[in-house]
This record gives sequence, C-alpha cells and structure tokens, in this order.
Amino acid sequence: MNFTLEKSATAFAEAKRYIPGGVNSPVRSFRGVGGTPPFIAKAAGSRIYDIDGNSYIDYVGSWGPMILGHAHPEVIGELTEALMRGTSYGAPTLLETELARLITEAVPSMELVRFVNSGTEATMSALRLARAYTKRNKIVKFIGCYHGHHDSLLIKAGSGAATFGVPDSPGVPDSIASNTLTVEYNDAAGLAAIFEKQGEDIAAVIIEPVPGNMGMVLPRPGYLEAVRDITEKHGALLIFDEVMSGFRVAYGGAQEVFNITPDLTCLGKVIGGGLPVAAYGGRRDIMELIAPSGPVYQAGTLSGNPLAMTAGIATLHLLMQTETFYEDVTKMTAALCAGIKAQAEKHGFNFQFHQLGTMFGLFFSETPVYDYASAKQSDIAAFNIFFHAMLEQGIYLAPSQFEAAFMSGAHSQADIDATIAASGNAFAKVAQY
Ligand code: PMP
Repeated sequence: MNFTLEKSATAFAEAKRYIPGGVNSPVRSFRGVGGTPPFIAKAAGSRIYDIDGNSYIDYVGSWGPMILGHAHPEVIGELTEALMRGTSYGAPTLLETELARLITEAVPSMELVRFVNSGTEATMSALRLARAYTKRNKIVKFIGCYHGHHDSLLIKAGSGAATFGVPDSPGVPDSIASNTLTVEYNDAAGLAAIFEKQGEDIAAVIIEPVPGNMGMVLPRPGYLEAVRDITEKHGALLIFDEVMSGFRVAYGGAQEVFNITPDLTCLGKVIGGGLPVAAYGGRRDIMELIAPSGPVYQAGTLSGNPLAMTAGIATLHLLMQTETFYEDVTKMTAALCAGIKAQAEKHGFNFQFHQLGTMFGLFFSETPVYDYASAKQSDIAAFNIFFHAMLEQGIYLAPSQFEAAFMSGAHSQADIDATIAASGNAFAKVAQY
C-alpha cells in the first residue's frame, strides 16, 4: 500500500481555518521537519492510527505519558468506571490523597504534593514558591531546557521554542526576562561563576536533571552533585523539573538514579496516565507556604480532577505491579538503540545515542553532545530525511531533532525489529543526500 496523508492534509487545512497553525501545541504542526502531520484517529498499545488508515509504531507516547502504551485495558477500565461517577466536583476526593501518597512514596523528597493541570503550571508555581521562600527574585535556568511556556522560563528555551527558532518569545516583558539568568547545561563552573556574582539575589535553580528538550542529553559524572552543592552553599533552592524524567528514567525519577535530593520537584506526563495532570512538591517547610496553609497563592478549577487522578493512580499501580517493569523496558530500549546504532554505522554514520531507562535520543552529530551548543551542531537536514523515511515506513518519531523518544511496556520485540530494519532503509536515504 502506498503511503499517503491525503485526508490528513485536508484536515490540516481545515484546522488552520480555526486554530493558529492548525494545532494546539506548535511541534505537532511538523513545521520543523516539513510536510503534513498525520491526524490521529485512535491509539492502542505501541501503535497510533491516523485518519488515512496508516498505522505507526509510536515512540512519542503523547510526549512521554504513555509509558504503559496507549489505551491500557486496566487504565481504561478504571477510567470508564470513574466516568460514570461524574467528571469533576471541585471538592476534595480520596483519589487526590491516594495519588499524592503514591508520589511521596516514590519520590521521598516530595513530602507534600500539589496537583495542577500542566507542567507549565507546575514550574510556574514552584518558581513563585521559591521566590516567596527565599525572598529573592532571580532564577537560573539552563540554555535549551524547557519548563513550559510561562514568562519566566520562556528564555533560551528548548523543545518547540528551539525547533522554531524562538527560544526567547516576543511578549515576555524585559522586566521579567531580566530576572532569569541562563547558563549552558553541564557547565558547573559557569553556574558557580553566576552564583559568585549574583548568589544573594538567586531564589532557585531549575533544571531538567536529564534534559529531553534539546534532544536527550545526559549529565556528566558529578555535574548534578555540583549543582546541588552550589545551590546549597548560596541558600538558593534546587528545583528538579522531572515532568519528563519522573517515573520515566526510573520509578523514582532522575533523583533516584543520581541520588540527589532537590528542594522542590515538578512532575507531569506519566503521573497523569495520559490525562492532564502535573504536580509540584518538596520539603514540607517550603510547601507549607502554599495557600491555604500559607500565603503563596495558587489554585485550579480542575486541579485534582477525578478522571485525571484515576488514570494516574491506575498507571502507578501498574508500574509497581511488575517488579521488573523498568528493568525490562530499559533492556528493550537498549536493544533498540544498539540496533539503530549498528544500522547507522553500517551506512558510515558515527552518531550520538543517549539512553537512560525508557527514555532515549539520537543526535545526527559526529561529535559528543552534552549541552545546547553541541546539540545545535546536529545535521538537521539529515534528521529531517531520516524522520520522513521512518514515518513512511510506519515509525512515528518526534518531528524535531530537539526532542527525546520514549519506549513503553507495550512495545514488542517485533516492534523493535521492525524499527531497526526501517532505520537501515532510512539511513540509506540519509547517506544519499
Ligand atoms: N517541563 C518539562 C521537562 C517538559 O518536558 C515539559 C513539556 N514537554 C514541561 C515542563 C511543560 O509541560 P506542559 O506541556 O504540560 O505544560
């Protein structure tokens, strides 16, 4: 069967009549890689299906949440029952306490947890809290890290902002941007230098401990320890943005893997099982400042939504149920990366592969990638050829070099074999250009 996206192209044109760029989140538009984004009709297990009748092995997983695969029968079962009890109450439920308890048990640095509806809200609220707690205004973020789209953090941002060349968005007032200091990831000396100069004004450092929004980058040995030491020394809070890495690189996130205790942590994606949930939490004495126990205001009409809590609880229960879940899926991820790497090498490419747990990434670069500057050395044209060649063979990757990839418990050995074989054909195309 010939690969066509005819119906998606028509749908995309129609969507553009009503929605800016036809999408509700920019990277979905495929503007970075060109072409038509498949419009999705349904998803199950490791696959998504578009309205043209194409099916794809999916390594985007809704950008991270779908660690059990799509439409996991037990999650859907729990959700269906919950749905019959009503969709939102705007009043406390047992579900919120249950998901909060599961999170504090998985991530012990989070002694108290507040649920919100998006990662953006989580990081925005964590910053407000850090500023209130320290009575300081400045924050530090890392170039190419993405923490959502609120003003303080849309500065030298990764993900779609990097893909589309707007890391500093118009509309962010200079007065706000000037409070955000930036430094390259993995540069401990650079961070220390900022603190030497302005340490007394810095409320917090926010970091993706394992960045996934400039492509996937790994911390150098000792780097995260250095970030912890520097923040502690200067009385600034350390905020781990584990919206992507939480329950993804390990059940307890990157802080479990690297044995670092941040003051505050932001979560999202996996904890909502595919529904809109995020959270921030941390040390009890800091979190007690949040209203209504304290004066720092933050609220949400749909926060702690019963359907969203149900999907999150079901997901975490299932992740805990199989003791070897992370071990098994990590092995599958390693096998996939090794297979694709071998195909790349067969075609003469010595590209950079990164993996931690069930998260992985490939840079079309012959030199090591450890920060945004080195990530930018990647051959974007080569990536784009590879991306489209994979899509046409039914492999759905994130449509940008500056995004990570995700494995799920629903991916089979057959999926992996098919993906490796497809990558061989795709690298052959890249070699021709
Ligand atoms: N932080 C990180 C690390 C993320 O990857 C993202 C989104 N990809 C966000 C925050 C923002 O989350 P949301 O899109 O739910 O606002």
